[in-house]
Amino acid sequence: MYQSRCFAVRFLLIGLFSVLTLSGQKKSKVEDESHLRVKPKLVVGIVVDQMRYDYLTRFYNQYGEGGFKRMITEGFNCKNNHFNYAPTSTGPGHASVYTGTTPATHGIIGNDWYDKENDESVYCAGDDSYASVGTLDDAGKMSPHRMTVTTVADELRLHTQMRGKTIAIALKDRGAVLPGGHTANAAYWFHGKDEGRWITSTFYMDKLPTWVSDFNASGAAQSYKKAWTTLKDINTYKESGPDNNNYEGLFKGETTPAFPHSTTELLDKNKDFDAIKVIPYGNSLTTDFALEALEKEGLGTDDDTDFLAISYSSTDYVGHNFGVNSKEVQDTYMRLDADLERLLTTLDKKVGVGEYTVFLSADHAAGEVPAYLKDMKIPAGYVDYAATKTKFSDFLKYKYGTEDIVKNFSNLQIFLDHKIIKNLDLNLKDVQEEIAQEYLGYDYIDRVYTGNQMWQNYYAAGIPQILQNGYNQKRSGDVLLVLKPGFITYGKTGSTHGSPQIYDTHAPLLFFGKGIKKGSTVARTEIPDIAPTISALLGISFPSGATGKPIGEVLQ
Ligand code: ZN
Ligand code: ZN
Ligand code: ZN
Repeated sequence: MYQSRCFAVRFLLIGLFSVLTLSGQKKSKVEDESHLRVKPKLVVGIVVDQMRYDYLTRFYNQYGEGGFKRMITEGFNCKNNHFNYAPTSTGPGHASVYTGTTPATHGIIGNDWYDKENDESVYCAGDDSYASVGTLDDAGKMSPHRMTVTTVADELRLHTQMRGKTIAIALKDRGAVLPGGHTANAAYWFHGKDEGRWITSTFYMDKLPTWVSDFNASGAAQSYKKAWTTLKDINTYKESGPDNNNYEGLFKGETTPAFPHSTTELLDKNKDFDAIKVIPYGNSLTTDFALEALEKEGLGTDDDTDFLAISYSSTDYVGHNFGVNSKEVQDTYMRLDADLERLLTTLDKKVGVGEYTVFLSADHAAGEVPAYLKDMKIPAGYVDYAATKTKFSDFLKYKYGTEDIVKNFSNLQIFLDHKIIKNLDLNLKDVQEEIAQEYLGYDYIDRVYTGNQMWQNYYAAGIPQILQNGYNQKRSGDVLLVLKPGFITYGKTGSTHGSPQIYDTHAPLLFFGKGIKKGSTVARTEIPDIAPTISALLGISFPSGATGKPIGEVLQ
């Protein structure tokens, strides 16, 4: 009896399914290519430097209707979005968002790293084979040449026969150079010092476009050389700690880390334009310049989809100086929210409501200030480098008779001198393991791995997987160190990032606009999923090293 009812239900379901399929087929015949892809006039990628997921929730009631809130309520919120590799720093972050993969594949293993092949320290975006454009300083000698794969913007350029334009903008050079990819029409970044100009590299062009020179001459940067006061009454900032406390750094010339911040650098109209970068006005200047690019480059005005990549760098400087629980960070996000509203409103006007697609994420998150955590009785602390150095040197001399066996220490990785190891008739794998064992004995170390383990094993989950995703065979080191949660290698004030721990990996991911569903998910998504999701939306090829997958729930 039960069985026959079951059959009946199944028969009914099959019937229903075929009716649905038939009507679906009929429908697709009359529909056009919008079944295959969405063609926004413009894709806007926004990376917020050092943004934690909880900045969306903690400051939510302080935000206006047209910025973060609009993206959350009208767009799609991935609440459980993570970096799936370490080190969680700026260069790798921007490269991973736009290439849809991790340092193991795209090659950007840090901001700076020791280049094993050429025995030199290198910068992720540095390239001496190009010259600066817009300044006599070396600050323009940049290109994405160390990133070995394409970005989603590159694939859009290829797909549109180079007709779709890509413009990338950030105060930090690496925040513009890496997102733009290898085929960007332009990447611009801000040169502070006594110039205060947007500049670029001969990798992109030989001369600044008139609109950029005009913007530089307009006095826009100067207008932000003013005291940093709070956007609203500071007494309404209930979502952060006291303004004046021991966990915050001081700007040069200040005696207390409290509002208003009115240093001589900020008030002097003619020099130290770097002072703008480290306060939220740097993000406002970035927005001004991005809107000028939108207008003057005619982005989003024809049939070929254009790409505007914006990275907001000031948030990172503020986090590093004041820490994630500061009034300064809260004010910076409230001001960024106002800048986002200005950006979206202008996009509505210039490109059209519903005609553009936006994603917003971060290049890494950040941890609480360890000194604050300690005061709250939470395990945390700082690495005592001086003590470590002596202890480790003694170990090397005792064990191998020389310290020269270690070539470099960077991004919490130890690079060994493979030649010396060979000359001493030692086995590389043994040396890696012995050094890892030694480090495991230091109290701030949580766990250790060797390069050999990264080569030989496949890690499917957890911190070892995160390390493996960050481990590039040609570029990474011989011993990998992981600090205990809450421990950092940094000064006693302010926050930092870089670890594989969850507070550094959990970052926002919002999608908004054309082709995007309204909703949210708590299912885990990862940073390398962003580029494939945008590729799937646009119906273009995935970036050449993509390992992430499209987030289906997001797409209409
Ligand atoms: Zn960063
Ligand atoms: Zn303060
Ligand atoms: Zn940073």
